[in-house]
Amino acid sequence: MEQKHSTIPAKKHIALVAHDGKKQTLVTWCANHIDILYNHRLSATGTTGNLIEAKTGLKVIKLLSGPMGGDQQLGAQIAQQDIDMLIFFWDPLSSQPHDPDVKALLRLAAVWNIPVACNEATADMLLTSTFMDSELPRQQPDYEAYLKNRLS
Ligand code: PGA
Repeated sequence: MEQKHSTIPAKKHIALVAHDGKKQTLVTWCANHIDILYNHRLSATGTTGNLIEAKTGLKVIKLLSGPMGGDQQLGAQIAQQDIDMLIFFWDPLSSQPHDPDVKALLRLAAVWNIPVACNEATADMLLTSTFMDSELPRQQPDYEAYLKNRLS
């Protein structure tokens, strides 16, 4: 796949998701980083988003609950290049009914080359990066070239 140069904007659209066993961890993480998160746009799966809003006061765009399609909604937004970063605290110690959706979400984040954190330590590193308040240069798939190749 050909790549092209692009940038992730200074004000980022951040997707937040946590499985049940990790929800408290994510809520606490959001509270600890509220000053930084406040400067960005936040979207989350249904239960995660409602909990973050209720416990931290941060404004969150709430999609469907994960098992009901919320992960897929976030994946679609990544493919449409509307989401710039994914904080996804998935639970490695329990199985999920929507495991294919979880996989698909992580796959699209890899395809579109957005920063992803799947645990607190990585999320801490991302949020303390100097790129949190400046543009991040990155490569992304060149969709126009991809389509042109397929049609030729
Ligand atoms: P939830 O979904 O925030 O609605 O619990 C998260 C998930 O399990 O994908």
